[in-house]
Amino acid sequence: MKVTVAPGAGFCFGVKRALKIAFDAARKGDGPIVTLGPIIHNPQVVAGLEEEGLHVVESLDSLEDGTLVVRSHGLPARLLEEAVAKGLAIVDATCPFVKQAQDRAAQLEAEGYAVVILGEEDHPEVLSMTGNLKGQAVVVDGPTGLTQIEDAARVGVVCQTTQPLEHLKAVVDGLLERTGELKVFNTICEATFVRQERSLELAGEVDVMLVVGGKNSANTRRLRELCEEAGCDAYHIETKDELEPGWFEGKEQVGITGGASTPQWIIEEIVQALEAI
Ligand code: SF4
Repeated sequence: MKVTVAPGAGFCFGVKRALKIAFDAARKGDGPIVTLGPIIHNPQVVAGLEEEGLHVVESLDSLEDGTLVVRSHGLPARLLEEAVAKGLAIVDATCPFVKQAQDRAAQLEAEGYAVVILGEEDHPEVLSMTGNLKGQAVVVDGPTGLTQIEDAARVGVVCQTTQPLEHLKAVVDGLLERTGELKVFNTICEATFVRQERSLELAGEVDVMLVVGGKNSANTRRLRELCEEAGCDAYHIETKDELEPGWFEGKEQVGITGGASTPQWIIEEIVQALEAI
């Protein structure tokens, strides 16, 4: 059985940067160091960071001092203001590409466009985009969601940075029929675009794809769907312990890719486990 790892699988630029910033903050140890929600969507990495002194909290309520590390997904303005009002030190690890998407959404709003965001309504990155607007945005997860948009003369579109390009094109197509003026910012980040392209290329060549990453990682889940659409069996796993030998019976080629928050060491462990199978 031949095993091939997709080029570029593993941590993206924004995740590496956020982890370095978080580690540095934890090393300084200035009061409790926390993130609001996990810094990245990978339970194994988050568990390691906990040991280094970076703790995950679900709300700011119980905090009276310390440092809040803003994770790569960014934060809504309301929560940032709450943290500052409590006197917490802020260390901002928002990915610059997420920041750019936030700024583009705010720009569209300031220019008078009705803002449409392509993404997952409850995803922290989308919440950070909507939460930095003065008014409301409509969040859609694909062209079917466009029915909730009342006819607007001027519509502006941005998207969650990890959306597939095909989804953005489909939403833009759908909007063209509903509005007189459309302004679109393609805020899909380069790292996501390249990862999806390379994973799809590999999925087209193998019998089975393993897509490695946190079950809570939206970009990993999407990567698995894309690989399956490419026509091969595709499984989403977090660690080597989830491998099932039955998946590989009669198969000759296995491909591996990983989400933006998947560390290289987990991918390497899976390659070794496959060699044993
Ligand atoms: S996937 Fe892109 S936008 Fe998201 S953290 Fe990585 S580099 Fe930044």
